[in-house]
Amino acid sequence: MNILVTGGAGYIGSVFVEQVLDAGHSVTVFDNLTEGHRSAVDPRATFVQGDFNDRDVIHHALAKARPEAVVHFAANALVGESMTNPSKYFRNNVGGGLNLLDACVASGVRKFVFSSTCATYGPPDRVPMDEELPQRPINPYGESKLMFEKILAWYRQIHGLDFVAFRYFNAAGASRCFGEHHRVETHLIPNVLQVALGKRTHCEIYGVDYPTPDGTCIRDYIHIADLGAAHLLALETKASGFYNLGNGEGFSVRQVIDVCARISGKPIPVVEKPRRPGDPARLIAAAQRARQDLGWQPRFPNLEDIVATAWDWHQRHPDGYPD
Ligand code: UDP
Repeated sequence: MNILVTGGAGYIGSVFVEQVLDAGHSVTVFDNLTEGHRSAVDPRATFVQGDFNDRDVIHHALAKARPEAVVHFAANALVGESMTNPSKYFRNNVGGGLNLLDACVASGVRKFVFSSTCATYGPPDRVPMDEELPQRPINPYGESKLMFEKILAWYRQIHGLDFVAFRYFNAAGASRCFGEHHRVETHLIPNVLQVALGKRTHCEIYGVDYPTPDGTCIRDYIHIADLGAAHLLALETKASGFYNLGNGEGFSVRQVIDVCARISGKPIPVVEKPRRPGDPARLIAAAQRARQDLGWQPRFPNLEDIVATAWDWHQRHPDGYPD
């Protein structure tokens, strides 16, 4: 299969590109490199640097690559940033994504795989969270992804563009070659591992007064190789629609810090801070639908194993990617 991957120079995209090439498909990576890294693009892929906010650029890229499927990772994905700069989130995640979708229709793409998020649900009435929960996002990031989910449903109905939208819980871990390097790091696990590496003095806990057993937020951490495997299954099966991707187990911020300290063997000093705006207390996936329809089976369901792969990558790349 010939596949175009947006955001293939980013954290999750880079690992998916590696997997899909290993599976024998051919790949064009389309990325504007604002968040991604050129050296995170598997050398076996064709690379196109471009921005889908320019309609002509993305139409031209698709007309040239002529992919059967598009896997769309490229997005802004920070809850906190979206609470201070909503325009960026609606412009890129909705407006830019729409340009991409129109180009897909124009060039006859048959399947579209989209990176959505559990942030589309907002604070859930119940956990674990299945796909039938009402979607009531509490930050512009989640809202932008929900808007795009709705656009996808209309495009399937009107243009016949089939899609799978995956609602990720918290992506974590690394492959042997590719890992997590954001130029401004805000995510919990890489922040904690930077303390273990001696690059930060301490890690901050955003909120210790949540209604959870230890007062800190609970999240469901899922290995990026398991996320990538689900995308491959979405391309190789007739699955269609919305799917949660998580392990079904929640860990608090303090528990994650403890696991990082254990795996790295380093002490992790913490400083307690106020809550970060936009954070729900507890997000845990029910992902039975993906298991049933896709035959998806996570290979790294244990947090220790997930953190161990991240720690291995960060030790070998203490400064991340060179570019
Ligand atoms: N968090 C934290 N300290 C950090 C980074 C994150 O306490 O340095 C918390 C954050 O408030 C959230 C959880 O850890 O409750 C996971 O945050 P992350 O940014 O990794 O992912 P998100 O859940 O926002 O997608």
